[in-house]
Amino acid sequence: MQLRFDIAIIGGGAAGTLAALQCLRRADRAMRIALFEPAPRLGEGVAYATDRPEHLLNVPTGRMSAWPDRPHDFLDWIASHAGHPGVAREALAHAYAPRREYARYLRERLQQAREASPATLEPVRARVDALHRESDGWTLRWAGGEAHARQVLVAVGNAARPLPARGARSLPAPRLVDAWDYAGVAAIAPDAEVCIVGTGLSMVDAVLTLAASGHRARIHLLSRHGLLPLAHDTGHQVDEAFDPDALHPLGTRARLRRLRRQVREAAARGLPWQAVMERLRPHVQALWRSLPAREQRRFLRHAVRHWDIHRHRIAPSVQAVLEDLAASGRLRVHRARLDMAVSGQRCVQLTAHGRDRRSLALDVDHVVNATGVEMRVQAMRNPLLEQLLGDGHAAPGAHGIGLASDADGRLLDARGRAQDDLRVIGSLRIGEAWESIAVPELRVQAEVVARAWLGRGG
Ligand SMILES: Cc1cc2nc3c(=O)[nH]c(=O)nc-3n(C[C@H](O)[C@H](O)[C@H](O)COP(=O)(O)OP(=O)(O)OC[C@H]3O[C@@H](n4cnc5c(N)ncnc54)[C@H](O)[C@@H]3O)c2cc1C
Repeated sequence: MQLRFDIAIIGGGAAGTLAALQCLRRADRAMRIALFEPAPRLGEGVAYATDRPEHLLNVPTGRMSAWPDRPHDFLDWIASHAGHPGVAREALAHAYAPRREYARYLRERLQQAREASPATLEPVRARVDALHRESDGWTLRWAGGEAHARQVLVAVGNAARPLPARGARSLPAPRLVDAWDYAGVAAIAPDAEVCIVGTGLSMVDAVLTLAASGHRARIHLLSRHGLLPLAHDTGHQVDEAFDPDALHPLGTRARLRRLRRQVREAAARGLPWQAVMERLRPHVQALWRSLPAREQRRFLRHAVRHWDIHRHRIAPSVQAVLEDLAASGRLRVHRARLDMAVSGQRCVQLTAHGRDRRSLALDVDHVVNATGVEMRVQAMRNPLLEQLLGDGHAAPGAHGIGLASDADGRLLDARGRAQDDLRVIGSLRIGEAWESIAVPELRVQAEVVARAWLGRGG
């Protein structure tokens, strides 16, 4: 007999778990909710699957609550768990907890929500391959099974980008290590020379793990722009004098000019540039939506890298580790585009070229792919997304990134029709919302979907 659910959530990473929490909380009658996730543990996905203590959240504890209306919930959880005796609550709120703690928190809250809800949450250990529309909902298919659900939420999260180089596909596994393979990075020998391709947050994770594992050899960092994430301000200030609404009528260039001016004005008042970014952060989605498409394209072409290093910041203690390694000469940044990666007798030979066309050749023992999240939906290699696109149940998002959806997460089909019973949360909404990857946005998206399907409840 076919399994039948009221709601099916596809993906049990942080986003899917936040959605399950919201559905359990808002349900006011017995109903069946399925949470499909192939990984053994819920709430981890890519970001929180790390067991490494050096991998910290890049958002302070005080802002990582699972609930939009209970902003201190994660702080309360952290404070009530052992290991922080004598640490003032204010200091804990501004601290950066190990990411593995966050998965434990989500799982604990999920368990509590299951016990308190009239609804039943049924985790299904499977990767959904296809969705087929029925008159009363959807049939979900996976290897060895199928189920029916009246409403389906797609929360399949972050896809890794393959190493962008000729020859990369034929590199043997121990030579090419994925930065999200946390155990693989930790297994790199201390005297092995390493090149990390990509200089964003996944690079930072890999460097921290190498440093924590006693790595002694040189670490090369390679990216086209050579820009590294910047650090949070230790003072946690917000520039309240700045009115982000003033940016709405402006195009990309004028907005950036205005922001630079604001940073200078803030500096004159003794505030760091981070205070301006903090003020801006809650307005980013609205600002993105108010940019005309050609201005969004301009942002993606010219400003996105600079935006990323200012927006996706690291804990000050993490920046100190990077600076120490750079000062000792063990960390070397190369601004160049990788062309080729081939496996030699005892090493990987990398060739790249810089902006000035000068070529760069590196022989290293391992290359770590830290190129991060793939935004182009056509390149994500997720069979479910390919099927949804192929069958016209979904369409690529603006600029080919993510999936087309409306502001309430309804997926738009190939003809642009919003589907009330097929919704999406997380980084797949990047084209429509831009700021759609971190917990402060995911928890709101999860709430909006649960509210739409189950009413106000909770
Ligand atoms: C390394 C890293 C560190 C980060 N640190 C932070 C941080 O400190 N704070 C913060 O707010 N944000 C952070 N982020 C942003 C992060 O993306 C979100 O916080 C959150 O983890 C995203 O969760 P997700 O569930 O959308 O995606 P994912 O973590 O990618 O989870 C998606 C899940 O869906 C499953 N899945 C995929 N396809 C299918 C399918 N067809 N069927 C069933 N299941 C499927 C996958 O197995 C996976 O478990 C970080 C991101 C990364 C990559």
